[in-house]
Amino acid sequence: MIQYDYLIVGSGLFGATFAHLAQKRGMRCLVIDKRPHIGGNIYCEEIEGINVHKYGAHIFHTSDKEVWDFVNSIVPFNRYTNCPVAQAPNGKLYNLPFNMNTFYQMWGVKTPEEAESKLEEQRRDAIEKMRADGISEPRNLEEQALTLIGKDIYEQLIKGYTEKQWGRKCTELPAFIIRRLPVRMTFDNNYFNDSYQGIPIGGYNKLIDGLLDGIDVMTNTDFFSDRKYWESIADKIVFTGKIDEFYDYCFGKLEYRTVRFETELLDTPNYQGNAVVNYTSSKVPFTRIIEHKYFESFGNSVYETPKTIISREYSTEWKDGMEPFYPVNDSKNQNIYEKYRLLAETESKVIFGGRLAEYKYYDMAPIIAQVLTLFK
Ligand code: FAD
Ligand code: UDP
Repeated sequence: MIQYDYLIVGSGLFGATFAHLAQKRGMRCLVIDKRPHIGGNIYCEEIEGINVHKYGAHIFHTSDKEVWDFVNSIVPFNRYTNCPVAQAPNGKLYNLPFNMNTFYQMWGVKTPEEAESKLEEQRRDAIEKMRADGISEPRNLEEQALTLIGKDIYEQLIKGYTEKQWGRKCTELPAFIIRRLPVRMTFDNNYFNDSYQGIPIGGYNKLIDGLLDGIDVMTNTDFFSDRKYWESIADKIVFTGKIDEFYDYCFGKLEYRTVRFETELLDTPNYQGNAVVNYTSSKVPFTRIIEHKYFESFGNSVYETPKTIISREYSTEWKDGMEPFYPVNDSKNQNIYEKYRLLAETESKVIFGGRLAEYKYYDMAPIIAQVLTLFK
């Protein structure tokens, strides 16, 4: 018996934003989620007064004013600027993203002109090799990194980190992954180029609670536990789970990377002096350490709470029972996904959206932009 206009499978950012906008237009929505809480991967757990990003550090960034105004209409955001630091295999610390500070730390160059000439020298071999092979575009992440930023930075800051994060060789990964990182000829450690950046004041749960305010929600509820029933109660379904699971893996299983978090409460107010420290050596088993209090306390205000919470992130291949985080957009998986996507196009009753259903490495802001567009 139809009771809802929309059954929304998944209370992550896609599902919650969709439910919010649908409800505003007078539609009846039910949101179900198989996890014990709402919010998907942006969910935080409060420990000792600190919002712990339970599924990995989340920093909201966008240049889309409409998206920024929309999220701020739900909850005001602070101005957190992400400036990660990397500890390299040579034992030194470097600023990220790749900017004049990094170039100074790596080569001692002090002006953009000196840095440009060093970069040119660093890139030369890779560019000449590509020319000799008759290739105009980098075919993989290694070629992209070497032609973009050169050998030293690739070896100290990219190769080890990337191969740990993805569990695959840089030569087997798509070039676009590394193009996410800015390269700047200025002394500017801001990890993102976007105009707006921040964290919801009071944490991400406030954003999700605001989006789902007044909407029927059921947690600990898996769509596949009683698929026929869930399909029968709504006119339409918004599905934000795994697309291969929706089709019973008929074209094979898509691969994902996931992260195991080792979270520790420490009896010190300030462990690493920054929210994010990456460990780019292949010899260190984790990729980075997050110190959660830094997302919402600035400068010496970190000393206002006597303890701190850190998470070491260990990147691993996804297996059943784990949370699928990162789609592996290599050609093998893209080909499988394409078959599911074509099948999904034939559905009239189901809208597929979000990181898992679209098998896409989406950040938060593009997810919101996409839902806003759907409603226009
Ligand atoms: P999800 O948040 O995964 O939500 C999907 C929901 O569907 C989940 O709650 C899941 O439990 C539920 N579900 C799945 N299957 C079923 C089922 N069968 N029945 C019921 N419920 C189901 N973005 C940024 O902009 N900045 C960042 O700094 C950033 N950092 C990130 C760090 C990590 C480690 C990860 C993994 C992602 C990061 N992202 C970041 C991306 C961000 O998390 C996503 O863009 C966003 O959360 C995607 O929302 P979603 O709704 O598509 O997916
Ligand atoms: N990356 C790297 N060294 C670093 C940080 C990032 O080589 O210290 C690479 C890595 O391949 C990663 C990509 O840059 O997958 C994009 O980084 P980003 O921080 O955007 O990844 P996220 O963790 O947000 O998925």
